[in-house]
Amino acid sequence: MCYRVECKKCGNYGWGGCGEHTATLYASIDKGKHCMCRPWPGVVIPKASTSTTTTTTTTTEAAATTGNAILLLLHQYI
Ligand SMILES: [Zn+2]
Ligand SMILES: [Zn+2]
Repeated sequence: MCYRVECKKCGNYGWGGCGEHTATLYASIDKGKHCMCRPWPGVVIPKASTSTTTTTTTTTEAAATTGNAILLLLHQYI
């Protein structure tokens, strides 16, 4: 049987043991208390689509800001 282990990196619960009972173990751990430093073989972890959207938006905005800064620099030199 697999057992839960406290992760020293994130303070959440990871797993130890053979790796064949991770699905049962994953279900027994409270939401948000799962250690994601190691993969959970056999467990389907739903990805939060909202966080992905936020990351994409932030990256686009950052790129636009950088582009404007370069344009301003160019104007100063001309
Ligand atoms: Zn096991
Ligand atoms: Zn961890």
